[in-house]
Amino acid sequence: MTTMMEGGSTTPPAGRRRSGTLRPPLRLGRCERCHVRTVLRPGGDRLCASCAAADRAVAQAVRSEPFVHRHLYAPRPDRVVRRVSRARQDADDDSRPLRIALLAPPWLPVPPVGYGGIEQVLALLADALVERGHDVTLLGAPGSKSAATVVPLLDRLHPRDIGMSVVEADHTARAIAYLEQAELDGRPFDVLHDHSGWVALAMADRLRVPVVHTIHGSFEGDAVRFYAAHGHKAAITCISRAQAAMRPHGLHVDAVVYNPVDVAAWPTGLPKDDYLLWVGRINPIKGPDRAIRVARKTGRRLILAGPVQRGFEQYFAEEIEPRLDEQIVWIGEVGGRQKEELFARAHAFLMPITWPEPFGMVMVEAMAAGTPVIAFAEGAAPEVVEPGRSGLLVADEDEMAEAVEQVSRISPAECRASVAERFAPKKIAADYERVYRTIAAPRPVADDRAAAATAVQAGDGRAGVVQSGDERVAA
Ligand code: UDP
Repeated sequence: MTTMMEGGSTTPPAGRRRSGTLRPPLRLGRCERCHVRTVLRPGGDRLCASCAAADRAVAQAVRSEPFVHRHLYAPRPDRVVRRVSRARQDADDDSRPLRIALLAPPWLPVPPVGYGGIEQVLALLADALVERGHDVTLLGAPGSKSAATVVPLLDRLHPRDIGMSVVEADHTARAIAYLEQAELDGRPFDVLHDHSGWVALAMADRLRVPVVHTIHGSFEGDAVRFYAAHGHKAAITCISRAQAAMRPHGLHVDAVVYNPVDVAAWPTGLPKDDYLLWVGRINPIKGPDRAIRVARKTGRRLILAGPVQRGFEQYFAEEIEPRLDEQIVWIGEVGGRQKEELFARAHAFLMPITWPEPFGMVMVEAMAAGTPVIAFAEGAAPEVVEPGRSGLLVADEDEMAEAVEQVSRISPAECRASVAERFAPKKIAADYERVYRTIAAPRPVADDRAAAATAVQAGDGRAGVVQSGDERVAA
């Protein structure tokens, strides 16, 4: 029998014959880049299958874009995140408070006044991390408020510019400058948790602070190539198992951490009304037109709430607006108490999505408000909805219409119970903390300001590869 040995030595040395073919010997060792224990490819460089696949994806991206110089995509082994072993991840003894920078997107304040899923996640996460005793700085849009220290980066909000690279690049550059200055001042961050989009991840291997990047979108179009090319530069987290399962080949996902909802913040005991509710961006992937057809089948009122974002004005004008009447009402963007009551009084929340939605904050919010969710079984919906307890999963519009009467049996209390523990902000903060600790560099022994500043100016200290027990951890 071929034996596999740590460090690469093997027996028999030159492979063995099976069915008349020479099979190369197998080697066990650590991947040079991500440090997972793995079977190494014979004769190749010392990379695990994931890192090797990422390299192949990068090579393909570079071949398809010959004008892009290779170094833009090439991993920098001296800077890449060294993931520490499971043993260290599971260790509870590391309880020192961390200095955490949370990077929010530039478009909307945290928490959002109305629309804003990522901003809502960050509001709850920041407060929960502070409650766990961490020193948290929220780098975000102006007007943000939090129990964390808030650092606004740009001088105005950009609700109509969502996705514009000129805004995101400016925002991220200011965040990086802030992090560098903190290090020069002898107060370096242990980790940057990035929720902001693309730029921070693309540059993460040029930063001195280890980065955790949460993927909030889906893997479609350019995102596939982007994550294949840049995903190795940070610890990557997904917001559902469904999203992680759709990752491009070779992208290493370090953890799945759900989005939080604070059940205690939602009203209880309000009398129920008979309307159906749909809340979201007016966009065909969210299925507001489907919700209208379902409501017509049931004869119930439907309230649609949400903004029409740039680029979807025509869809709204052609598919939604002409169908509005006394039964089907669109009330625009909602927020605050009005939104909470809308959710709490609804008979059922409709989630007629036409895409693999990576999470869907509106689903957990509806349940927190005691309203059952009827969702198409797409994306994360089967992970979030507990059929029969907090809602139902359906396959088409007819089934959705039938489910509207069936969910009358589901109690508001059960809906709330279904999300209270699984998505509790304190649980989500603990889950992220575990990821932070896997990449946070140990604090320098001499932690005084002058020593740290000298080390930074000399180009050593946290920038290099340092020893942590038997693991090598790069900042
Ligand atoms: N939302 C809101 N007012 C609106 C429409 C949406 O406050 O008029 C909120 C909604 O409650 C949720 C977020 O915006 O918190 C949307 O997040 P979700 O994950 O459902 O969708 P996405 O991030 O894909 O737009």
